[in-house]
Amino acid sequence: MRVGCPKEIKNHEYRVGLTPESARELVAQGNEVWIETQAGAGIDATDDQYVEAGAKIVDTPDEIFAECEMIVKVKEPQAIERAKLRVDQILYTYLHLAPDPEQTVDLMNSGVTAIAYETVTGPRGQLPLLKPMSQVAGRMSVQAGASALEKAHGGRGVLLGGVPGVMPGKVAVIGGGVVGFNAAQMAVGLGADVTILDRDPEVLEKVGTFFEARASTRFSNRANLYDAVTQADLVIGAVLIPGAAAPKLVTREMLGDMQNGAVLVDVAIDQGGCFETSKPTTHAEPTYVIDDIVHYCVANMPGAVARTSTYALNNVTLPHALRIARMGWKEALRADEHLAAGLNVHKGKVTYKAVADELGYEY
Ligand code: NAD
Repeated sequence: MRVGCPKEIKNHEYRVGLTPESARELVAQGNEVWIETQAGAGIDATDDQYVEAGAKIVDTPDEIFAECEMIVKVKEPQAIERAKLRVDQILYTYLHLAPDPEQTVDLMNSGVTAIAYETVTGPRGQLPLLKPMSQVAGRMSVQAGASALEKAHGGRGVLLGGVPGVMPGKVAVIGGGVVGFNAAQMAVGLGADVTILDRDPEVLEKVGTFFEARASTRFSNRANLYDAVTQADLVIGAVLIPGAAAPKLVTREMLGDMQNGAVLVDVAIDQGGCFETSKPTTHAEPTYVIDDIVHYCVANMPGAVARTSTYALNNVTLPHALRIARMGWKEALRADEHLAAGLNVHKGKVTYKAVADELGYEY
């Protein structure tokens, strides 16, 4: 199969659909790989590295969209890209169609077969192609919080790990799922005093067994949340209620009872945020202060570490890409119900129930 990877054109998107290493794997299995020149620039992968891996560099995205049977990307195609998609072409990328009727109509009109990373499932119903981005965001949340705690950044001037003779900083992680677990790993690694709150007993058991005495776990109810939040130097919001907006667990009123210069990192901001005072920020201006509490609410945290994020994403997307290229999309989806769950649009129809329901299409 001829597989193409254009340079991402969404504002501030530095990731790339295929790393040189992924291109090499596809080529080794007998596929042709076309990469748009400079597609890897945002992760410091050069055209030469792709050529060395056996790929062909092309000058424009037009050639890729016109000639390739499968397009591998990171972000949803932008309007100018959607206009280039063709009948029977396979599009394999993040799509997030439910809140995006315009994109959905364009994909339907194009006749493309669109497989969305975010709806591919795993054996226990999890979303393995979303997981690496949660891992990245969780790990980054501690780094971002540690930096915001510095005096010059508005924080209370606390070093999370402390030093011999001085107490470490206190970190409260709300939600012990993928983001929260990874945040806790980083915070524990720094030597901070870490408390993880969740309302799912199984999650508390898993986290408690893993961290043993290196972190505390608490059931997430109003009293425990209030306690942990008001004592913390850094609070990380990592909750998710699937399909719903994040619950507002820290109210504006509670800010007044927190320590001056404490930091809130709201990773759940892409679901509306779990602190009442959260509003989305960007990497260019990541923080703002309300009631002497520093807020960090960047909605696309993995974008800041594009290289790590791209490699983490390729680790989970490539196996499916290889199978689609080897078997053709029909056979690959027939053989794997989890990959089949990724099919969102085919031959002008929405083929994913939640998207069809949300946008009012027949399913
Ligand atoms: P997850 O499902 O693995 O974990 C969520 C956890 O929240 C679960 O363990 C659940 O029991 C817990 N929870 C739900 N309600 C709670 C409550 N009231 N108190 C305490 N815990 C509660 O989800 P995840 O992958 O860890 O994602 C967490 C959030 O991070 C999501 O909103 C996700 O979209 C977001 N996210 C943001 C970025 C970013 O760049 N900002 C990147 C990746 C993920």
